[in-house]
Amino acid sequence: MKKQKYERPIINRISIAVSNKFGPKGKIDIISDIDGIPVKELVGKYGSPLYAISEKTLRETYNRAKQAFSTRYPKVQFAWSYKTNYLNAVCKLYHKLGSWAEVVSGFEYDKAIDNGVQGSNIIFNGPDKSEEDLTKAIKNGSLIHVDHFDELYMIMDLAEKMEETPKLAIRVNMDTGIYPQWDRFGFNYENGEAWNALNRIMLNENVDLVGLHTHIGTYILTPNAYGVAAYKLAELAVRIDKKYNHKIKYIDMGGGFASKNTLKGAYLPGTDTCPSFDDYAEAITNALINSEIDPEHLPTLFLETGRALIDDAGYLLGTVLANKRLADGRRSTIIDIGVNMLFTSFWYEHNIVPAQETTHHTEDTTIYGPLCMNIDVIRAAIQFPLLNKGDNVVINRIGAYNMTQWLQFITFRPNVILIDTEGNTHIIRENETKKTFEQLERVPEYLR
Ligand SMILES: *Cc1c(COP(=O)(O)O)cnc(C)c1O
Repeated sequence: MKKQKYERPIINRISIAVSNKFGPKGKIDIISDIDGIPVKELVGKYGSPLYAISEKTLRETYNRAKQAFSTRYPKVQFAWSYKTNYLNAVCKLYHKLGSWAEVVSGFEYDKAIDNGVQGSNIIFNGPDKSEEDLTKAIKNGSLIHVDHFDELYMIMDLAEKMEETPKLAIRVNMDTGIYPQWDRFGFNYENGEAWNALNRIMLNENVDLVGLHTHIGTYILTPNAYGVAAYKLAELAVRIDKKYNHKIKYIDMGGGFASKNTLKGAYLPGTDTCPSFDDYAEAITNALINSEIDPEHLPTLFLETGRALIDDAGYLLGTVLANKRLADGRRSTIIDIGVNMLFTSFWYEHNIVPAQETTHHTEDTTIYGPLCMNIDVIRAAIQFPLLNKGDNVVINRIGAYNMTQWLQFITFRPNVILIDTEGNTHIIRENETKKTFEQLERVPEYLR
């Protein structure tokens, strides 16, 4: 008989079909395939860990969002938030579906142009637009959303020098009942700064005021906050019309809709608390339609939704590296997905599930990533079945921000694949290699 591996005896409560305050949990969820393609096959072909994006889910989510708004309001235009996921294949999918581009840097701006977006269909946000970026945006007729007076004066100077009439909107921050209030971007509504900026723009003949913009925050669970924000922007539009007989062409409500992920410390799971697109659409469109805006000149409603559109379409597939007992007897499972690849794990309790059938016994487990660093914790405490080394796991709802905020640390970023609607797989970003980094490094002569 083969000698069994020794494991120090410990007493531990094993739960079968654990119940919690919502009743018994029937069975352990597993995700064994993504759009019909087995996880084992994907990892076998493209390596582990692996990011996968489902085009099917991406399209379905976009269509639901579009439907929610366009059935309630006559003129709706989405603009894809590049910083949420700026892999070109992802951006191009959104552009194919009709989205414009929303960018917050010169780098993102150039990406949008390279992705074939017309300059006039690019919304340029953010507090850091260089003179060079602005010159480009003015030449291309892009929509420039002004963040502060220093930027506004630079644009006015450029407009005069270039003999162009830039199309401007201002970003407005305001009290919508969400605290802490995001007041660091744009001009404040309550203290009159926004009104002041609008007047300065209206009185300068070299610039054209075309829109009003706000982005009240991110992961906003209260649709009513959007109602308040839309109403305040509508009120500014009405005041401008009254004073200058000038019609605003669009109102841009920014992004910030919650995804179904669960925030750390949340009492209920995100799948239960996340408002639907209909809830947000109802709040925003009611505020606009019920405002004093001239119904003959309803502004186009722009939406820069990021997180809520892409989160569900993204998956991270990984592999169990080892199991071990911690000093207090607690089980820990080590997987090959680290927090460097899952930046959002700092605020979400990410859903992680096995990719193959497992025992129904679960145990309170800590799931660690592979980094040689104490903070590399994917889940601090989760009821999890015992998986074996080599088994696969799936973390779902990771499409937003992880493929832009990921950190290269200790090891390389892996492949990212897209699963198209026919079930074909495509690499959309290759795994990094030593060369990726070394080509940027320089060793001074005396150290060679
Ligand atoms: C980040 C950002 C978005 C997208 O926000 P989400 O919370 O991902 O929907 C939209 N607009 C602006 C100005 C942003 O900075």
